[in-house]
Amino acid sequence: MNENILTAETADSRPRGIDLHTHSTASDGSFAPGMIPQLAWESNLSAVALTDHDTVDGIAEFMAAGAAYPELEAIPGVELSTLYCSREMHFVGLYIDCGSEKLHEFLEMQRAERVERAARINSKLVSLGYPLSETDLTAAGATGTIGRPHFAKALMEKYGFASMAVVFDKLLKHNAPAYVPRKLPPPHAAIEAIHSAGGVAVWAHPVYRQRNERAWAKRIMRKLKPVGLDAVEGYYSMFGPGETALVSELAAMNGLALSGGSDFHGENTPNIRIGCGAGKLYVPPELLKELRHVHSTSERQ
Ligand code: AMP
Ligand code: MN
Ligand code: MN
Ligand code: MN
Repeated sequence: MNENILTAETADSRPRGIDLHTHSTASDGSFAPGMIPQLAWESNLSAVALTDHDTVDGIAEFMAAGAAYPELEAIPGVELSTLYCSREMHFVGLYIDCGSEKLHEFLEMQRAERVERAARINSKLVSLGYPLSETDLTAAGATGTIGRPHFAKALMEKYGFASMAVVFDKLLKHNAPAYVPRKLPPPHAAIEAIHSAGGVAVWAHPVYRQRNERAWAKRIMRKLKPVGLDAVEGYYSMFGPGETALVSELAAMNGLALSGGSDFHGENTPNIRIGCGAGKLYVPPELLKELRHVHSTSERQ
């Protein structure tokens, strides 16, 4: 039997996949929100969610562009950062109502905290001999949610670092000299904010590859299900079959739905492509049935 032919046929006969975790220039991605539907459609997807960090500013443009692709479902989303037990945990909100006042209040607090932290990162960079001007940061795309990737890009352009990854490693990663931790809310506050906007709350990238995090993931799911967690990301660019199987098993044990996405950031993470991650990601479209079901049966729609 010719395995290559079999693999090719299997891949071709699969239905269009989905991607429920992407970023645009409204946060730290390199493509405008209005480009995301086209990229998704051309990458053979049937649904895509825009989930920028701590902002919904790109959603209107994204949804308007999505209307040009009637067979593509464009889902309004957001990604919120939280802190628990000294670890950052992220929550993706899907099917959110961008007009929600409570969500806006939450996002405004995050925005203010990011601006204050950016000033502290800037001061550290000055004392390390890498001053950046506001123009440098704006040119690096810091027009919406400001975060470390904008500093990384600006430093790369101005001081000739080889890549953003090199800048993170030398200056911006946890415990590096220009690192400033964020003051973040607890997970239940993010879940509440997502629910207040009628959204489905998904724990993003719940485990990291090559780390044995079964006990941690199990504990968190058990703890957050009662405060309203709806789903977990079982398909992710950095996951192999082992992580997907583990997250799926724990989700089933806790009555949680599954979500999945690439965490696409465009050229800011050049090895991650929309819909297919580093090449092997395929998020099955069936997941949407349960996510829609959660959304439609909740009192929050
Ligand atoms: P922030 O929310 O400002 O702390 O920035 C976090 C973002 O930086 C993540 O969402 C990633 O997009 C990016 N990031 C974090 N670590 C790295 C790294 N080592 N290399 C490149 N990008 C990174
Ligand atoms: Mn990011
Ligand atoms: Mn994240
Ligand atoms: Mn993300």
